[in-house]
Amino acid sequence: MRLLLVEDDARIAADLTAALQAAGFRVEAARDGEQAWFLGDTEDYDLAVLDLGLPGLDGLTVLKRWRAAGRELPVLVLTARGAWTERVEGIEAGADDYLPKPFRMEELVARCRALIRRAGGRGSGRQTIGGLTLDTNRMTLSRDGLPLPLSPLEYRLVAYLAHHRDRVVPPGELLEHLYGDDDAREANALEAVVARLRRKLGAGVIGTRRGFGYFLEGAGAGGAAS
Ligand code: CA
Repeated sequence: MRLLLVEDDARIAADLTAALQAAGFRVEAARDGEQAWFLGDTEDYDLAVLDLGLPGLDGLTVLKRWRAAGRELPVLVLTARGAWTERVEGIEAGADDYLPKPFRMEELVARCRALIRRAGGRGSGRQTIGGLTLDTNRMTLSRDGLPLPLSPLEYRLVAYLAHHRDRVVPPGELLEHLYGDDDAREANALEAVVARLRRKLGAGVIGTRRGFGYFLEGAGAGGAAS
């Protein structure tokens, strides 16, 4: 799940990033309104967490611009304590939920998941792939009811393949999803994650179509013998 975090306070941003990453989100951060407006308008995110008090272009204006441009990503706004006018304005500007500061990280994570659940329309958030159950609400993958110990990166890879289970996903697209435009973007890194996952999940879960990409076995994307 790709999340845009807009927060100008560097320390708060670092704390939020750590908590959200630990919960399995891939976090990209914007420090001011201009950057936030640009990223939200040109990139695809599953969710944005938007602080309203920003230098320059304020959060409300950013949100209004996204909505005016037809960007429908779910947005959770962070408001100052007791500032009920901010909450009203935020909702009117198109926010999907709000959270007054200060808040607990657990609550932020729970609200982010709830928003994605509402937006995603994937029902219970559970999908069965072969003998495995992917729970996108809890962000777990389990076999026979026992969660498998996946790293956030590994989970994101499986969840992405499951979300696109009707097709073979090219390595470049997976790398983009896993690492964004970071320098960590190497085919070798992807192969290493896939290899690790295969050791954890066993054979017959993640298939390769040589020269094309990866897919989940039993999901119908692999086609005939490769
Ligand atoms: Ca702020």
